[in-house]
Amino acid sequence: MSAITSVIGFPRIGENRELKKSIEAYWKGNGSIEDMRAMARSLREKHWKLQKDAGVDLIPSNDFSYYDQMLDTAILLNVVPKRYRDLGLGPEDTLFAIGRGYQGPQGDVTAQPMKKWFTTNYHYLVPEIDAETDIRLVGTKPFDEFAEAKQLGIVTKPVVIGPYTFLKLARGPQAAELELTDAIVEATAAAYAQIVERFNGQGAEWIQFDEPYLVLDKDDGDLDLLRRLYAPVLAARASGGAKVLVQTYFGHIADTLATLVDLGFDGIGLDLVEGRDENLAALQATPIPDSVSIFAGVINGRNIWRNDYAQSLGLVDAVHQVARNVVVSTSDSLLHVPFTTANETKLGADVLRHFAFAVEKLGELVDVASLADATDDSRKASDVLAANQALFDGTRVQPDEKVTARIAALTEADYTRQPARAERQKTQRAELGLPLLPTTTIGSFPQTREVRQYRARLRKGEIDQKTYDDFIAGKIDECIKHQEQIGLDVLVHGEFERNDMVEYFGQNLNGFLFTQNAWVQSYGTRCVKPPIVWGDVSRARPITVRWSSYAQSRTNHVVKGMLTGPVTILNWSWPREDVSHELQTTQLALAIRDEVLDLEAAGIRVIQIDEAALREKLPVRRSDWYSKYLDWAIPAFRLVHSGVKPDTQIHTHMCYSEFNDIIRSIDNMDADVISFEASRSDLTVLDAIHDAHFETEAGPGVYDIHSPRIPSVDEIVDKIHAILAKMDVNKVWVNPDCGLKTRGDEETWPSLENLVAATKKVREELGK
Ligand code: GLN
Ligand code: ZN
Repeated sequence: MSAITSVIGFPRIGENRELKKSIEAYWKGNGSIEDMRAMARSLREKHWKLQKDAGVDLIPSNDFSYYDQMLDTAILLNVVPKRYRDLGLGPEDTLFAIGRGYQGPQGDVTAQPMKKWFTTNYHYLVPEIDAETDIRLVGTKPFDEFAEAKQLGIVTKPVVIGPYTFLKLARGPQAAELELTDAIVEATAAAYAQIVERFNGQGAEWIQFDEPYLVLDKDDGDLDLLRRLYAPVLAARASGGAKVLVQTYFGHIADTLATLVDLGFDGIGLDLVEGRDENLAALQATPIPDSVSIFAGVINGRNIWRNDYAQSLGLVDAVHQVARNVVVSTSDSLLHVPFTTANETKLGADVLRHFAFAVEKLGELVDVASLADATDDSRKASDVLAANQALFDGTRVQPDEKVTARIAALTEADYTRQPARAERQKTQRAELGLPLLPTTTIGSFPQTREVRQYRARLRKGEIDQKTYDDFIAGKIDECIKHQEQIGLDVLVHGEFERNDMVEYFGQNLNGFLFTQNAWVQSYGTRCVKPPIVWGDVSRARPITVRWSSYAQSRTNHVVKGMLTGPVTILNWSWPREDVSHELQTTQLALAIRDEVLDLEAAGIRVIQIDEAALREKLPVRRSDWYSKYLDWAIPAFRLVHSGVKPDTQIHTHMCYSEFNDIIRSIDNMDADVISFEASRSDLTVLDAIHDAHFETEAGPGVYDIHSPRIPSVDEIVDKIHAILAKMDVNKVWVNPDCGLKTRGDEETWPSLENLVAATKKVREELGK
């Protein structure tokens, strides 16, 4: 007999992104709602059967979603603000209105805010609870999907976001802090108790409540809140009825395990990939009654490398020492990995055998579970284990000795730019001839259909390289001329040649591999296809020099070179597991450093190094922020630019303004200028900048590029005033809050004209 297996969640977008295509067809009026529902149903069936056929015991249901599982939970619990209900739309359309806004005959509402799901690049919709919210169980989605699977002969394990995580992530109107009143807590607990009762009635054997928020640090009262939420839920169990699993992931719960045991959960799910050591230590320190099953999350749902069976067995064995009932599980939902390696036809079998996407991970789960219960002798005789071991024996890739030597030779000086920033800043503005409140953009200009078509035609061989290059040059010419006309100060070339800010770099770096179909959901129907770090990284050839210097040759204004930084490249790729993230980031930093120096040598005097994703992988626990991340991520950025001349101005950009708590680290990147998103946030970051005596010059975005709206001159003037109230005028830049790639020309240029006009107005007020 082998140990029981459990999957926390499965990708829902489909092997060929069928769900994405079907939903988008519906949005565009090219498909009916019935078509979309039928597609959803057929995907659910396919995914359940796949898991069943693989031999998985506890197969999730309600992990399907048209848009986002947090949004589904909000709808389930009647947490839908009135402005969406008032539209009077059907269920799916209401859901889409919350997810992406609605403008039409029924009204005009913006979408609810979206945020990154813990340390992933998946984004969830932030539930909004206001004074009128009447939390109660009103939806039927989890029950319907459970019944749907049961009809197919599969008794699934329904999955619902747990009440603790749900309430912790919920906000008040305008994303304000939410006070969790007794009424909110009691109503939520009652709704979840009802969920348990309903599933009991339907014959569920296990119910999984996802509680990733438990891996975060606790404030006073958090464990008490957990108890208040779950005591009624657990009391709603019927004897012999459905068991309740509290599923954690993305880190450890050393500070919570004893409370969960004490509350009396039937199953406790632990991530033994992220937070492994702390979770194991906590297990050893906490007596686990025989009535509790420990779900050992050993199959990594966050990366695509093959599981090391010997290592996983070691972990399962260790859990077995302290817990009688062990279930072998994925470490988190497989939502965060692509569907299957079977559709990768360009990577050779010798490469592909090192990877397991969602489908292949099912096989790994079942393998590990069957080996887990085997005797030592049968493990020794196992071909499966031996074949797996062979993947990890010997060297998969030869180390690049040049890269190794280069890293070994680095000294503190390589991480330190000279002279000190205050001194550089004094001369840069004069040397670059910049006015007070310089205006600029973040890099990309609209990637129109035409631009994407040219790229596709080049890829398919329908046009030759020269035709493509001439087209790109023409786009740059237009873009530069237009920027000159409207009077921007620091120009950009527009990034027309780039498909994606990470892939474009990866394609010019040694050590990277690319997939054809390895899509992962990022938000709603949007998917990304991260490249793979396969070996040691170095720059294969100059990457951006050609187009940046071409752009500079077309104007007397300063053109800003545009690079993606090492931390962001790694965070938006599949990292290696055989060497540390620190080492991979350092290798990337050296590669981008080569590019920075080449750009400078080619006459580019302002260089922006985007670190859009720097905060994404900030560890969930504060105590790990520095030692496990910032202590090497920030120096890696400095290594990229420390070699430039004092007058070369280094910019960076981040796609969020949530850096109040790491503001010193941001300043320690030692960039000369940073731009960031601030238009939708409440500008508290300006207080932090002020209070921290932030040295980096800064361009808090003065308008929201995620919306097609054109901001008026007055609106932008107000924004600049608000910024000047908190910042030294000599350190302020004026720019939009992110790249303009996803926008159309029709809104981009008028918006930028208003931005320039607003800046001139403020300069006049200041007498400059
Ligand atoms: N330079 C990039 C652009 O403008 C930055 C993108 C981003 O921040 N995600 O598109
Ligand atoms: Zn951005």
